[in-house]
Amino acid sequence: MTHAPVSPVPASPSPRLKLLLILPHPDDEVYGASGTLMTLLAEGHNCGLVTLTHGEAGRTLGLCDTPEELAALRDTELRACLAVIGLTTTPGSSFEQHNFPDKYLQDQPIEPIIETAREALARHRPEIVLTFPPNGSNGHPDHVTTHRAVKAAWDALPEGERPRLWYYASDTAPENEALLPEWLPANLRRDVTPFITRKLQAIACHRTQALSTVDFIRRFPERIVEETFYEVGV
Ligand SMILES: [Zn+2]
Repeated sequence: MTHAPVSPVPASPSPRLKLLLILPHPDDEVYGASGTLMTLLAEGHNCGLVTLTHGEAGRTLGLCDTPEELAALRDTELRACLAVIGLTTTPGSSFEQHNFPDKYLQDQPIEPIIETAREALARHRPEIVLTFPPNGSNGHPDHVTTHRAVKAAWDALPEGERPRLWYYASDTAPENEALLPEWLPANLRRDVTPFITRKLQAIACHRTQALSTVDFIRRFPERIVEETFYEVGV
C-alpha cells in the first residue's frame, strides 16, 4: 500500500473568486442571487458558495418524513439547482457544504462558524462576499447568525485585504416592524432578465421549499428579474 505524500500547503492557492456566497440553508443562494451568479459565470468569472447546513429543520411539504430524509432531499435539490446555475459545472468555481445544525445555529458557539467563514475568505480571496444583512432579511435566526459570523470574519481582515461586502437587500421596507431598525435598503441592482428562464428552473429545483418560493415571489416579485443588494461602505 502506498501513501500519498503529505502536503499541508497546496502547491498554488486556489483561483481567486469573483463572488463568494456564505449562507446557512440550501435555497438561500437561489432567489436573490442566482441570476447574478449566472451572469458572472457567463462572463468567465469563478464564483463560490458555502452552505453551512443541510436544511434538515425546514418544511417537508409531505415529501419526506424525518429530518435525515429532508437533509438528503435538500442536498439533492441544491446540487440540481447549482448544476442549472452552472456553479458546479464550471471548473475553478467552488461549492462546499458544512454540517452545522439547521435551526440551531444561534445556539452554537459562533467561533466555529466565524472560522469557517474566515477560512473560506482566506482560501478563495473573493472580490465580493455576499451574505444576509443584520436583520437576516426575514429575521430567521440562522440568517442573523450567519450575518454575524461573516461580518466578524470580514472585520478581522486587515482593511486592505477585505473583499467588497454585499448583503441581500430590497427596496421594500419589511412588513414586520421588528426588522425595520436594522433594515438596509438596496444600493446596488443587477438586471438578470437574460437568465430568467434558467433562474426559474434553478428556483424550481428546491421542490421542498415551494412555500418559500411563493412567499418570495409574493413579497419581492421585482427581485426575480432585478437582483438587489446592499453594499457596505459605499
Ligand atoms: Zn434561509
